[in-house]
Amino acid sequence: MSTTMTAAYLPGDSTVQMRTVPVPTPGHGEVLLRIKASTICGSDIRCIYHEHLGKGPEGYQGVIAGHEPCGQIVAVGPGCRRFAEGDRVIVYHISGCGVCNDCRRGYMISCTSEKYRRAYGWQRDGGMAEFMIAEEKDLIALPDQLSYADGAQVACGFGTVYEGLQKIGIDGNHAVLITGLGPVGLATAALSRKLGAPTIIGIDVVPERMQIAKDLGLCDHVLVSGPDNVDEVKALTGGMGVERAVDCSAHHAARATAIRATRKWGRIVFIGEGGKVEINPSPDMIHDQKTVYGSWVTSTWLMEELVERLVRWNLHPADIITHRFPLQKADEAYALMASGKCGKVAVCQDEELS
Ligand SMILES: [Zn+2]
Ligand SMILES: [Zn+2]
Repeated sequence: MSTTMTAAYLPGDSTVQMRTVPVPTPGHGEVLLRIKASTICGSDIRCIYHEHLGKGPEGYQGVIAGHEPCGQIVAVGPGCRRFAEGDRVIVYHISGCGVCNDCRRGYMISCTSEKYRRAYGWQRDGGMAEFMIAEEKDLIALPDQLSYADGAQVACGFGTVYEGLQKIGIDGNHAVLITGLGPVGLATAALSRKLGAPTIIGIDVVPERMQIAKDLGLCDHVLVSGPDNVDEVKALTGGMGVERAVDCSAHHAARATAIRATRKWGRIVFIGEGGKVEINPSPDMIHDQKTVYGSWVTSTWLMEELVERLVRWNLHPADIITHRFPLQKADEAYALMASGKCGKVAVCQDEELS
């Protein structure tokens, strides 16, 4: 095996910098992964690619980019207890201390240790490279029936959505509204369908995204974002509004639409990050007995449950990947994702590229 590798860094001026760096050696409790698929997230674009905006958990520390990696273990450090060379794995994208209350619940996303909480691609080297070091405790086994590109979608995208949908509960009684049809919105539609939702309504403004939602059969109705959305959604749901709504847009008007287009006793979850919302609590929520949830990423145990369900449902998250690039063209991959004129964008190696 070569002793050096190519890796992508994000200097923060809407460019990608490729560097040649040593292939790292796994330490205690760590593994070395051959990265097979590494997808680009909206948060990479929002907080790192254009400029380094993030603070705290979203602060980029100049490491190798990419927090949605999936690959195969090629070397195992001392002290590993479960995984071995050759195993196919997904990486939970935030490595926590492992012993605080949040970590013990499996929510390393909200690990309270300032010293040990480090997200891949933000505060520790991530997946936009030929190889990556991961901690064994952050790994989720990738079932044989799922591809590496499927797996790359699980940690941040589909996992985050699955968590949010668990909170509001989705079943065959529910019409579901999704505001924002980027990759997270498309994942919401795909999972809502498998959970039994008979009617799925999506709202967006980007024609390419709306077309993907239609082409993949993920949404029954796709509306152009605008001031009439609440009336339009009600017209599609017997005048009542949906039972469940999921905001994946972070846009203030879309969030208000998600709440107002939900019927009495309905539930709404906010997944999209950033932005604001303006609501009138009495008419919008209190008098109609509505509940609004916030949901941030997911836990390791729920991610394990999700990969099992994906196999059961024959649902392949990679279906929402519209573009794949080799690592050498990572700059094109980020530029396309920043344009929004795409579904999910992946940087791939080996069998995931052909
Ligand atoms: Zn992500
Ligand atoms: Zn912790």
